Amino acid sequence: MSQNPSDTHLDTLLQHTGVAGFDPETGCAPVALPSMRTSTVRFESLQALERAQAGKARGERVVTYGRVGMQTHAALEQVFCELEGASRAFLAPSGLSAITLALFALLDSGSHMLAADCVYGPVRHLDKTVLRRMGIQVDYAPATPEALAPLLRPETRVLYVESPGSLLFEMLDLPALAEFAHRHGLLLVTDNTWGSGYIYRPLDLGADVSVVAGTKYVGGHSDLMLGAAMARDNEVVQRLNETHYAMGYSISADDAWLALRGVRTLPIRMREHAEHALRICDFLRTRPEVARLYHPALPDDAGHALWRRDCSGSNGMMAVELKLDAAAARRFVDALQLFGIGFSWGGFESLVQLVDAGSLAQHRYWQRSGNALVRLHIGLESPDDLAADLAQALDAASRAAA
Ligand SMILES: *Cc1c(COP(=O)(O)O)cnc(C)c1O
Repeated sequence: MSQNPSDTHLDTLLQHTGVAGFDPETGCAPVALPSMRTSTVRFESLQALERAQAGKARGERVVTYGRVGMQTHAALEQVFCELEGASRAFLAPSGLSAITLALFALLDSGSHMLAADCVYGPVRHLDKTVLRRMGIQVDYAPATPEALAPLLRPETRVLYVESPGSLLFEMLDLPALAEFAHRHGLLLVTDNTWGSGYIYRPLDLGADVSVVAGTKYVGGHSDLMLGAAMARDNEVVQRLNETHYAMGYSISADDAWLALRGVRTLPIRMREHAEHALRICDFLRTRPEVARLYHPALPDDAGHALWRRDCSGSNGMMAVELKLDAAAARRFVDALQLFGIGFSWGGFESLVQLVDAGSLAQHRYWQRSGNALVRLHIGLESPDDLAADLAQALDAASRAAA
């Protein structure tokens, strides 16, 4: 779908992709594409309808009914294609539903899937509640070819990973995993919500499908739910297309519009989140309560070399291991004033999540220490104010402990 010369910077493409075309009569166009709300479309003749149906049968992006969306949706799909270097993007009503779209498109009853042990938690719920019932089996392991190879079966079809991993931001070697997957006839599906196509491009690194929760950095304002699944290869695109249509995934034009509005500022938001996160890391290093920071842009992070090789930037996500017992960690989180206690991330605001020990235990990257782990999303507030808030909350937690 990308018609742009590849030497145009992504920052430029994000401002110029998916704009409204000129009206042939008046020669003018709105700068901001309107939200094209409609449940169905009408055709000027049966011939026009039949032309559209023939295009649909060939797998082209044509509209015969409102469910797949019209101009606003198509513009957002184009933006996702630019972000991920994809030939097609398919929109879904949430990040999780974009994951189900990719998996339902590529797995059959009786298939086996290998999954990184650091995947987004709800994927395990999908496995337990739905995939298993459909006769699909999943094994989890640290995402390295050495750890995955012994788990291969003749019916293994997909390697599903998330890089950097949920909770600890463990960088995976995507090119090595793609090579491993393809050598064994598997397709590599990656959750790229962290990179959102702007700072990390899995399809360029060998992945077959990249899935993004647009709810996070693409939307950027904590006001919509959105997912997208992107691919380059024609056969994979056709499986996604068929499954997308069959399953009825659909998003509202207003949500597509909000995402388009949000994504125009993705470059400056992402840079600012990343810079603020590094400032917060600098501050946290000065605190005796901090045992370890998890943020791949830090030179001493275990994944830093892979991050330097494969990513073009970073974002506001980090995890902090605190030498606090469970009760003190709770006091720390409750004492924070500027960080909202909540899931999700990628919006303008700072968030904190006290990571559940049970979820962490499933990640082999976590070296069990008895320490608490707190995940932070560093928002667009003043980093000085955020550091002051963290300082007072750490003081409060320690004071009560003493
Ligand atoms: C939030 C998130 C999702 C799911 O996105 P929703 O839009 O909330 O369904 C998937 N993967 C990752 C890594 C996420 O952080």
